[in-house]
Amino acid sequence: MPNEDVTPIRQQYLEIKRDYPTTILFFRLGDFYETFDEDAETISRELDIVLTSRPIGKGARAPLAGIPYHAVENYLARLIEKGYHVAICEQMGDTPVNGLFPRKVIRVVTPGTIIEPGLLPSDANNYLVSVILDEKLAAVAYADITTGEFAATELPSESLRAELARLHPAEIIHPDNQALTDGFTGHLTPFPAWRFEPGKCEETLLVHFKASTLEGFGLKSQSLAIRAAGAILQYLKETQPDSLNLLTGFRYYSLNEFMTLDASTRRNLELEETLRGEYKDSLLGALDCTVTPMGKRMIHQWISQPLLNIEKINMRQDGVQYFFDDGMKRAELRATLKALSDLERLVNRVIAGYSQPRDLVTMRSTLKELPNVIEAIGKPIKSLPKIELSNNELSLLESSIDDDPPATLQNTGIIRSGYSQELDSVIEASKHARDWIANLEAVERERTGIKTLKVGYNKVFGYYIEISRGAAERAPENYIRKQTLVNAERFITPEMKEYETLVLNAEERIREIELRLFREVCATLSKSAYKLLGIARALAELDVLAALAEASALGGYVRPEVVDGSELEIHEGRHPVVEQSLHGERYVPNDVIFEKGEIVRVITGPNMSGKSTYLRQTALIVLMAQMGSFVPASSAKIGLVDRIFTRIGAQDEIHAGQSTFMVEMIEAANILHHATSRSLLILDEIGRGTSTYDGLSIAWGIIEYIHNHPHLRAKTLFATHYHELTQLADLLPSVRNYNVAVTEADGKVVFLHKIVAGGADKSYGIHVAQLAGLPAPVIQRANEIMLELEKTSGRAVNINPNVAQQAALFPETSPLLDELGTLDVNSLSPIEALNKLFEWQKKYLK
Ligand code: ADP
Ligand code: MG
Repeated sequence: MPNEDVTPIRQQYLEIKRDYPTTILFFRLGDFYETFDEDAETISRELDIVLTSRPIGKGARAPLAGIPYHAVENYLARLIEKGYHVAICEQMGDTPVNGLFPRKVIRVVTPGTIIEPGLLPSDANNYLVSVILDEKLAAVAYADITTGEFAATELPSESLRAELARLHPAEIIHPDNQALTDGFTGHLTPFPAWRFEPGKCEETLLVHFKASTLEGFGLKSQSLAIRAAGAILQYLKETQPDSLNLLTGFRYYSLNEFMTLDASTRRNLELEETLRGEYKDSLLGALDCTVTPMGKRMIHQWISQPLLNIEKINMRQDGVQYFFDDGMKRAELRATLKALSDLERLVNRVIAGYSQPRDLVTMRSTLKELPNVIEAIGKPIKSLPKIELSNNELSLLESSIDDDPPATLQNTGIIRSGYSQELDSVIEASKHARDWIANLEAVERERTGIKTLKVGYNKVFGYYIEISRGAAERAPENYIRKQTLVNAERFITPEMKEYETLVLNAEERIREIELRLFREVCATLSKSAYKLLGIARALAELDVLAALAEASALGGYVRPEVVDGSELEIHEGRHPVVEQSLHGERYVPNDVIFEKGEIVRVITGPNMSGKSTYLRQTALIVLMAQMGSFVPASSAKIGLVDRIFTRIGAQDEIHAGQSTFMVEMIEAANILHHATSRSLLILDEIGRGTSTYDGLSIAWGIIEYIHNHPHLRAKTLFATHYHELTQLADLLPSVRNYNVAVTEADGKVVFLHKIVAGGADKSYGIHVAQLAGLPAPVIQRANEIMLELEKTSGRAVNINPNVAQQAALFPETSPLLDELGTLDVNSLSPIEALNKLFEWQKKYLK
């Protein structure tokens, strides 16, 4: 209902804003995007922009803050980063209707739907993710509208967190009646629940893919996945409708294809960044020698999803081997690839209709390089991705686009002459007029003899003749004075204006024709999008294979043998990152050779001796092997590992807080519930977050459980400073003891970083203290105290396997035990029991 009290433009604004109550509305007014009311206050606060006001009728004013349209990208970036969504409302058409330009929201920018190259990370995907939960199941769908990737899976709810950790979503949408429990980092966007309705979603997918059934996409009974995927399409339709064209394919994937790595394991192993958030000392930092943005994104994916299929692993290894063996070829290929641009994103900009002229120039030069890439590969082997040529697209680009077109579509000179007769004839017809104007300056200088005479152009007058003040009286008869400046006079002539009209009209026509031709070229290229994206992916894969070969050659890696058995045999393994950061010190390689039947390896050793490094390097070597890479070792044979779990104790963790122990126990519980006999468990100083007895007992219990549980028996590396745990090797047949060798040189303690069989000397602490040069009386006294403690704590007692745990953990005789023995448990009430405990605590633990 029209409101008489406000201006028409205010009314238009309010109507549009009504559809975007929670989104900041950028309202285009001429050269500005304006925001009003609360939005204006928000952006003024967040972006430090001056808040003014604007009359809206009847003497009222509304708060206003504006942003120049050409600088919008920078402001958008900052708002998105702060978690806002921004609706971009444009002026439609060139003619006002009833004095008002029609306006429409053309897209809503959210973290998962940005397309501006400047706002996107070039080395990682920008995933929009959709999550829906069922009772036990969850479904995840994700799309990257800059690369066209679109996929979904169903998974047990408890695996959701791990999958999200892998994807690093830029934005997660979820049904608004289904809160994602806290702990999900990233930008959460609630989306109406009815958008996730099964029928609605299936319909959306069918319409989008113009299909009659979803079976071809691997979706039949996965109704939850269909709902997640369908909701993404609906969300994009509302926010970024153009992007729907890009999602040409869809993949249903199964988590069974990939090694499972939960969020804390990804963090602890420092796969993509270190615990301190740095890329450099992460595994990715050590392996990523890629030279293209496409390759960078792919190596990210490979590291975050190690494979479980031996054939596929071998294929990748063959590829790495090919470039590993031939350094010349590798160098040549990498040099060729380096010249390529981000074909994947270029193609997607073409399909989406966002291409600028120079994008096509870049695409052209990339397509032109393809024969060189093929030549650099040499005689291709089966395992290498095949690079197709794209000659039709290349010749289209060569014939149509100028060598050096303008940066934007607002300018002419995009299309090459000879491509379109229509364009050429318009240019030709206006040539006389343009030449006339181009020559005007010379001609008039000659005619008037005025050396300072200049021909210029501005938007207000069009072309003009400028003569300096001093020479102005010598202007010929036919000059008409138009403007007086401080030092000059400006004139026009009627004839000049006629030519000007011709030139400007021609300009306009040329612009129109060029724009149309450019769009046609893009449309033709869009038809080959599938093929071009295939080429982009093949290039990315080549880049990654050659990069892994490069890293392997530089790092002295070997090809591991990945087998279907349960072997874990790493000879002279190294930590790929630590070995690079030792600054000249030699990295000490270590074996990890699990004997037949070995399940738990307990590693003892003093602080800083290299336990954690040994554990992590083992996990990293297994992971690298299954991503298809070579590994830092002299040889390795690795039975497929389905999951790697890590639990890294309190002291080694950066965010040690009060609840650390709770976190530690939650993670331990998760491991014990989900590990299988094919898993690899990295347990580093478990139980450290609590008191010695608690910690020791828990560690003990966990090892027993892993060892004895029929479905578990997962290979485990257990580093600990609890010397007591070495007793387990005597009690449980599949536990082995290892320790880190320590020695002395020049009166100083030297960590050899060498892992050797056997439990550590139990008094290694005192031993180290001695090596460190503590005065002899201190050492002697420490040894005495140690002996005394052992007597009362029963640590040194010979253990009878049947009472092993109790004997090891509790004093053999003590007044407490005596009292405990005389207690009639059956007659105690819970309260009495509690009181008893309280009493003992006071009595015995002073
Ligand atoms: P721990 O867990 O036993 O306290 P770390 O594994 O944290 O010890 O290792 C401490 C330091 O020792 C590492 O930061 C590294 O500099 C060095 N280090 C560890 N392992 C080796 C090795 N195999 N060769 C050389 N230096 C090592
Ligand atoms: Mg450690």
